[in-house]
Amino acid sequence: MVFEILRRDGLARIGRFQTRAGVIETPALLPVVNPKIATVPPRELYDEFGFRALITNSYIIKNSPGLKEKALEEGLHKLLDFDGTIMTDSGTFQSHMYGEVEVTNEEMVQFQKDIGSDIGTVLDIFTEPYWTKQQTADSIVTTLERMQVACDMKGDMMINGVVQGSVYQDLREDCARKMATMDVDVHPIGGVVPLMEQYRYAELVDVVISSKKGLNPNRPVHLFGAGHPMVLALAALMGCDLFDSASYAKFARDDRMMFIDGTYRLADMQSLDCNCPACRGYTLESLRKLTRDERTKIIARHNLYQITSELALVRRYIREGRLWELAEMRCRAHPALLDGLRRLKEHKAFLERTEPISRDGAMFYTGSESRGRPIFHRYAERIMTRYVPPTDKAAIFPEGGKPYNRVYFNEFDKAMRAGYTPIVMSPFGPVPAELDEIYPLAQSLFPEITDAETVSESDNLTFDFIERMGFKEVIEYDEIPEDGTMEYDPDVIRAKAIANYQFGVDVADAMFRGKIDIVKSRKTGKIRNVISDGEHILSLRAGDGLYTLRPEGAVRILERIPSPRMRVIVNDDSVPFVSEGRNAFAQFVLDADDEIRPMEEVIVVDKDDKFLATGRALLIKSEMKSLKKGIAVKVRTGSGDEA
Ligand SMILES: [Zn+2]
Repeated sequence: MVFEILRRDGLARIGRFQTRAGVIETPALLPVVNPKIATVPPRELYDEFGFRALITNSYIIKNSPGLKEKALEEGLHKLLDFDGTIMTDSGTFQSHMYGEVEVTNEEMVQFQKDIGSDIGTVLDIFTEPYWTKQQTADSIVTTLERMQVACDMKGDMMINGVVQGSVYQDLREDCARKMATMDVDVHPIGGVVPLMEQYRYAELVDVVISSKKGLNPNRPVHLFGAGHPMVLALAALMGCDLFDSASYAKFARDDRMMFIDGTYRLADMQSLDCNCPACRGYTLESLRKLTRDERTKIIARHNLYQITSELALVRRYIREGRLWELAEMRCRAHPALLDGLRRLKEHKAFLERTEPISRDGAMFYTGSESRGRPIFHRYAERIMTRYVPPTDKAAIFPEGGKPYNRVYFNEFDKAMRAGYTPIVMSPFGPVPAELDEIYPLAQSLFPEITDAETVSESDNLTFDFIERMGFKEVIEYDEIPEDGTMEYDPDVIRAKAIANYQFGVDVADAMFRGKIDIVKSRKTGKIRNVISDGEHILSLRAGDGLYTLRPEGAVRILERIPSPRMRVIVNDDSVPFVSEGRNAFAQFVLDADDEIRPMEEVIVVDKDDKFLATGRALLIKSEMKSLKKGIAVKVRTGSGDEA
């Protein structure tokens, strides 16, 4: 079993999941196929829609004479006529729907093996949202015992380790943590269908995030029962890799059509404006006139096309590093989804851990919910703890166009000469003049007509910042005295402030020593290289305004800053490769700094802390240590010069 992360955007990931029946490109949706009624035949799901995996219910097969014998004799793939990966459910959902099921865990696991399921499921206990905490905790003990039995029995079948825990976040996290230590292949998050049916999306977010906290990042996470196109972006944003849908067929049978903004009854619809291949050529009237069976066929296919096109869009936004924007757009389709999006803000500290240091392209602000993105949290944290003002007085500027240094060129200079550090009040909070070009400050777009939340948060953050920096005096930008005479070097101040922000003050201090020379671009006038005591330690990237670490800078960090800070430690096998400039792969990582974030500059060292290379981390520590495949650090070639 190998799950490889190819691309990521925060917790969201594009991955390759290898099963014995083939490869599943994640995020992926598995249509649920009822073995008794194939609304859309599995062959068509594979050939026409491109689904490489489906789910069917082993409990129904086991209890249907005829089907059971055929499955045991020919195997599931032949029974369903499907060449891709087949996952089976165990009857747990039936117990949620109809009460107790008359089978044991051992029977169900054995049966799934016998019929050739590729990924089987434990007979876990469905924890209902209305259960007491004690009842939930007790049932998890049983689920975990059954899980251990299933792991011991599974043989070469993969097994789903279902995370339960009702709406109790600590129980979810604890259950996930215990499952993570077991020989499980996929982690479904179970017991969430009632939350989605009741539109309790804020609690769904709590449940998914708390489960993710405990899970092992090297296994795909499956949000059981989530398959509506409107929820896919949000679920992928939280790091769910697999989804399933029974609704595409169930809804079709009662004339309900799924769209990205909700589900609509055919009887209530005013027009059919859908361009999917199933609907093409139909009008609302002609669709209504069909026989029930014909209509079900078309609507089921329409529903599947809605799902596949939304999933394709989710993948594209992950690749572009813009999944937050898609999720924010989608969550405006229903107030309950907006609750889910808003609830994410409470998990900002956890989300920050996988938030990349920078993204390609500008960040688009789509409304006050955007303030819940982890990048806002990171900026506020870092500016409060990593900024060292060059003077002990401050002058406050309103935002007046970007970049601030160009717009306020003369005013900033006047302020500094008078001993006042210019601070611009931005939607992110206070921005000292020398940080105005770092991601995301310069690489973001906000509407010009601002909202109340942004105004008040920016005010509060600026107030806290001034307090924290201990400025002796704070004035408005139009109160700056004309006759300042202080001499200062704006380039050195800027170079050091960016290093403080990006790496932390102690690391920046370790690198900046002796005489500092700044090399600027002749074309743009922007800083390109930082030379300290004659050594080229850092290069500034034009795109995100942040540094690329040079080997000379890295060695200074290794000398002064104790391990594992900024380091990725690799085993002896990969030493020759990495020192030649080849990438460091996850399976060779021994340890790493827990503070490393995706796309951050890191130093690759051997077990004795000897310098091997610099590069950019693609994974965080927990991922580097658990993934068995994939690039952990994109290493820079010999000369190390990107600039
Ligand atoms: Zn359609």
